[in-house]
Amino acid sequence: MQTTIALAGNPNAGKTTLFNALTGAHQHVGNYPGVTVEKKCGAFTFNDKTFNVVDLPGTYSLTAYSLEEVVARDFLAIEKPDIVVNIVDASNLERNLYLSLQLMEMGLPVCIALNMMDVAQKRGITIDIEKLSNLLGVPVIPTIARNGRKGAAELVEALYKMVDRNHKNGDVVSPIININISYGIDIDSALLDIEKIICDYSFMTDKYPTRWIALKFMENDEQIIQLAQKHGELFERVLCDKCLRDPDSCPACQQISRKCDTQLMQKVAQIVTRLTQHLQQTASTYPEAVIADQRYGYIRSLLRQGVITHHYDQNRLETSDKIDKILTHRLFGPLFMGAILYAMYYFTFNYSELPVSWVEGFFGLLASVIDNFLSDGMLKSLIVSGIIDGVGGVLGFVPLIMFMFFFIAILEDSGYLARVAFMLDRVFRIFGLHGSSVMPFIISGGIAGGCAVPGIMATRTLKSPKERLATLLTVPFMNCGAKLPIFLLLIAAFFQEHRALLMFLITITAWIGALLAAKLFRSTIIKGESTPFVMELPPYRLPTIKSVIIHTWERTWQYIKKAGTVILGISVILWAMMTFPAPPANVDNSAPETALKYSIAGRIGSSIEGITQLAGFDWRINIALLGGFAAKEVIVSTLGTAYSLSDADPKEVDTLEQRLKSESNFGPLTALSLILFTMFYAPCFVSVVCLSRESGSWKWGLFSVFFNTGFAFTLSVILYQTGSLMGF
Ligand code: GDP
Ligand code: MG
Repeated sequence: MQTTIALAGNPNAGKTTLFNALTGAHQHVGNYPGVTVEKKCGAFTFNDKTFNVVDLPGTYSLTAYSLEEVVARDFLAIEKPDIVVNIVDASNLERNLYLSLQLMEMGLPVCIALNMMDVAQKRGITIDIEKLSNLLGVPVIPTIARNGRKGAAELVEALYKMVDRNHKNGDVVSPIININISYGIDIDSALLDIEKIICDYSFMTDKYPTRWIALKFMENDEQIIQLAQKHGELFERVLCDKCLRDPDSCPACQQISRKCDTQLMQKVAQIVTRLTQHLQQTASTYPEAVIADQRYGYIRSLLRQGVITHHYDQNRLETSDKIDKILTHRLFGPLFMGAILYAMYYFTFNYSELPVSWVEGFFGLLASVIDNFLSDGMLKSLIVSGIIDGVGGVLGFVPLIMFMFFFIAILEDSGYLARVAFMLDRVFRIFGLHGSSVMPFIISGGIAGGCAVPGIMATRTLKSPKERLATLLTVPFMNCGAKLPIFLLLIAAFFQEHRALLMFLITITAWIGALLAAKLFRSTIIKGESTPFVMELPPYRLPTIKSVIIHTWERTWQYIKKAGTVILGISVILWAMMTFPAPPANVDNSAPETALKYSIAGRIGSSIEGITQLAGFDWRINIALLGGFAAKEVIVSTLGTAYSLSDADPKEVDTLEQRLKSESNFGPLTALSLILFTMFYAPCFVSVVCLSRESGSWKWGLFSVFFNTGFAFTLSVILYQTGSLMGF
């Protein structure tokens, strides 16, 4: 059986020397077809197998900048060698691994020959081979190609094992674990969008992994862009072969083909342009630079995890490393992280008081104006109780939420958020999750005000399916932007004295709950190994005001837009459910809540009151919580509508906060129980759809609805009953 091996590496890493050591005299020198780049082939046999070896031109990267790079890349993509031996200069690990990452991103079966071990040793560098191999997920064999072929025998044996294993699997090209480097939230989500287009058009999907092609588009890779333009022509031929007509006399086909051609590129170009503009605006940088930065960050953090030890006195520490010595310190790091979080909540609550009162005042004024102008009736009820008390309640929190987004933008832009993930990896491991789970948690609202949907998408950076599933199932526990209004409302109404502390505790509780649930999953239904973690640590940067403002505004605007569209729609539907059917005339109508109780929503809410009372929830809260399944913001808007509809004196315009405070059976304990339940119960509808799609089965979506609701209810009942017993 014949096997092809390609040697790839930076110039002067020792490829030719290793090639000679492996193949001895059996070589053949020629050119790559059509170009003047030298192609050296040779062969050797080991046990029952013959290995054909090709010495690729030396390159630092796999962009299409130079002829050598194009030749190397085409060979790898088109000839699909069984194994790529990546010769890495051990004395220059950081720079050499840049190519290794790209080979792995191309989805190639890589084996690393760590050459020049003698030079590394002389320079006082020790490398933990096993750790490097584990972190990268590929075999690493130390060699000294020049002196007596040291390591060559071990290398051949490793190659033999790789091929043997692949053949046993019935595959020629090994199904390797893809590394999925995260390039930051902006680029990652653009990558996902482009990947989808690539799949839709099946563009080069047989040659390269979709993520790699998407990356090349983003790096403005000339070759890929040209191929994409040609791709349309390919479509054309296929189509016309089908209808067996000359393309010129088949206008229909041409139309379709031209559409394909321009559409693929147009769609991709649109995404790339939007992203480029965004990066230009926020960080005065461009995608290629960020991508290179993140790759080096990945390598740096990998080497830092004890892979490399210098014995000579440390080369001057760079500023970022110096800062990291303190900020990611084992003891001081987490303390600092907690302090930052607490300070963030403290400032948010203290400095947003005034703008919040303005917004509340505005909606109060609006309600009283409409109250005066419209006569009592359905329309007025819809506008005042349904829309203003509903959507207005959600919009009232815009200033607070904007403050939080502002602080998060600073944490993110400065590079600190990446350190948070780095530190939490140690904790996550204990609970069967992975360092790569941290970012999805934060995106979902781990600090405050994210969204589970992009969080769920972000779990794609997890390699291990089990760790990914455990992450998918637990990210909805984070405090997304939609849950914030209900927390903020209840905190303002009942815990005015300890606002920052409570928000801090709510955050911690969400994390603890998520981690415990993850541990439960990982030790029962999704048991399995944990995989090593490498995190990109970008250098610290002083965030620019412009970038922070743009990031803050983008997220705030999304919140406002959602309140004005989706939430408005659901509020109106729920208002209707809370208004119809109206009680017949013979029913005693004197109590203000009779009408509400008589409505569909009221009946549903009342019918489960018997059970939910255990957690302190009355029928009105039940309505709100059921509505919250559509979108969590709806909890506040529905409470607003429900309390407004059942208000004894609707003429008196109260805020929901005041209404709740004056309610006799709604106290601090009910508030806490409701906070706890909101935090953990069923993810919103959109998240469930997304979760099902990403986990590949509706089973998991349904599971999360029932498990989370059961989990949340249990916690709330325990809290409420204990609290009641203790006399609160
Ligand atoms: P290529 O450009 O990757 O083909 O690299 P070469 O094979 O031409 O090697 C570049 C130089 O490094 C040559 O002078 C080799 O003798 C030397 N070299 C290769 N491997 C080793 C090694 O393991 N240790 C040392 N000290 N030198 C090496
Ligand atoms: Mg050479």
